Amino acid sequence: MRNSRGTLMRPFGLAESTSSPVVTPLSPSVVYASETPDALDAQYDGRAHGYTYSREGHPNADVVAARLDAMEGAAGGVVTGSGMGAVTAVLMGLLRAGDHVIGGNQLYGRSMRLMGHDLPRLGIATSLADPGDVAAMRAAIRPETRMLLVEVVSNPSLRVADIDGLAALCRESGILLAVDNTFTTPRAIRPFDHGADIVIHSVTKLLAGHADVMLGYAVAREPETAAAIRTFAVTAGLTASPFDCWLAERGLLSFDLRFDRAQATAAALADHLADLPGVARILYPMRPDHPDHARAQTLLRGQGGNMVSFELSGGRAAANAFTRAAEGLSFAPTLGDVATTLSHPASSSHRNLSEQERAALGLSEGFFRVSVGLEDIGALKDIFARAAAAAREAGG
Ligand SMILES: *Cc1c(COP(=O)(O)O)cnc(C)c1O
Repeated sequence: MRNSRGTLMRPFGLAESTSSPVVTPLSPSVVYASETPDALDAQYDGRAHGYTYSREGHPNADVVAARLDAMEGAAGGVVTGSGMGAVTAVLMGLLRAGDHVIGGNQLYGRSMRLMGHDLPRLGIATSLADPGDVAAMRAAIRPETRMLLVEVVSNPSLRVADIDGLAALCRESGILLAVDNTFTTPRAIRPFDHGADIVIHSVTKLLAGHADVMLGYAVAREPETAAAIRTFAVTAGLTASPFDCWLAERGLLSFDLRFDRAQATAAALADHLADLPGVARILYPMRPDHPDHARAQTLLRGQGGNMVSFELSGGRAAANAFTRAAEGLSFAPTLGDVATTLSHPASSSHRNLSEQERAALGLSEGFFRVSVGLEDIGALKDIFARAAAAAREAGG
């Protein structure tokens, strides 16, 4: 990608090479120079491939989009500057004032904020229903309902949505089914194979996987729908920077290995936690005691993922003692990093709910969510055993 016209300022001193790099080069250029107005016409008309301005597209974004498209069995996805950029591009790129959208009742916090606050402010009506209950979703449908937005596995309760049932409902009702596949990833489920119309990711999490880049992705099965999402992302400035895309591509190269390793460790850790004194409840979709175990086995093809939630029998004092004693683990509200992280919904993601609302979701002061990383399972078991013992001493 050489500027064939050259300028007085740059590029300067670029040596031609007859060999090529094995790693995708980072292309931070914001603007791209064309040969002639005719050449620019050809680009804009789609007769020739070329970049113009990086908000509209650049090589690093295209490389990441192509990889994610392939993973989801899709085409024409757009990479956004964050997962929320992708959620926003889908909702605002496709809906109009007067429309109604139904969300899963345990969506990611900021998605919930969009549903509860921003969409209604713009004249788009919203309501929430349980994505594991197709009858409840059906009852929430109105004549003006255009879209259903759900996550496959809910945070932090790890309930599994009835994606097949929802897809059938959406098909018969002429409604778009948008699936946020962040927790599950295409390793566990490809929503398009189950009848979804739109797939959304926070690439920030497992896909990029190193807690050093924010990125999102959205794609639709229908090319016109995908184009509408992309156009809004470009217009609203939601698209991603070259460096973030470059980092994310590097993360994607090891994604399958990281996912499989973290998942195997999560399954073993879940069983270990279940046996620890002071642990009152354990939630992992692949355990037979999980309320959606049967659905997880078929829908997720046995892939339980890397997230484990559990409840200590003590209150806040036990929770404080637990994180203090869990030396080596970050107490940080993120997920999908190479390092195992602990989050405590009552003091973070769900702090704005009342105690009764939290209780209805089963989120006591002793409730923790673990994003299992790549550490040695033996070391993790020791840390959790020590932390659970400290929690019990403090009032478990
Ligand atoms: C984190 C997350 C998002 C938002 O992604 P960001 O990259 O943080 O903007 C959306 N959905 C789910 C399920 C998430 O976990």
